[in-house]
Amino acid sequence: MNTLQEARDQVLHQIQQACEQAGRDVQAVQLLAVSKTHPSEMLREMHGAGQRAFGENYLQEALDKIEALKDLSIEWHFIGHVQRNKTKHLAEKFDWVHGVDRLIIAERLSSQRESALAPLNICLQVNIDGQETKDGCEPNEVSDLVAQISKLPNLRLRGLMVIPAPENTGAFADAKTLFEQVKGQHAHPDDWDTLSMGMSSDMADAIAAGSTMVRVGTALFGARDYSKQA
Ligand SMILES: *Cc1c(COP(=O)(O)O)cnc(C)c1O
Repeated sequence: MNTLQEARDQVLHQIQQACEQAGRDVQAVQLLAVSKTHPSEMLREMHGAGQRAFGENYLQEALDKIEALKDLSIEWHFIGHVQRNKTKHLAEKFDWVHGVDRLIIAERLSSQRESALAPLNICLQVNIDGQETKDGCEPNEVSDLVAQISKLPNLRLRGLMVIPAPENTGAFADAKTLFEQVKGQHAHPDDWDTLSMGMSSDMADAIAAGSTMVRVGTALFGARDYSKQA
């Protein structure tokens, strides 16, 4: 059986190969371990294997794990849909929120983030390939949102997050183009350094197109069993 250490080494190797093929520096791509549905003991083991950044989708499940693992130094990323009435917990407990797609959400996170804490890192989620059911703002809204959100206190607007339809790998290039285009709208352009795209099945394509953060669940932890979820 594969240990989590072996699974992580394999994913890091895939990232390295994708970077070499794309002529990119391997340091330019970060691995976010997507741990939704998996118990905190598995995260602890993955942390022992060297992993520091973890992504969670479901707020209550994430809060339980943050509490259970508070003795470890972990960078917590929220990658699920952000509900307006849940922003306070996100502002208090997380280091990153990837699913911001409206100004009101960013404003709430900004006012609820204590200024004594490090600024909350934000990615703007974009519906890059016009899917009907997906969250995310429209590509033509991104420029205005970047201009407005990048001025808010207690936040650092770091970049874009996309989840294109499976097989629609051309959308990664569109995301990269948009990412470069809107940098000039940012009040602090040096903060604009993150393109969050690519998952277990398409990370090589995402890296080829310019991803700086791949969000990988299945390839690290195995298949998810949603039936056991609280
Ligand atoms: C679950 C999830 C992932 C991880 O997907 P895998 O296919 O298991 O790698 C990545 N990003 C988001 C937003 C997710 O919800």
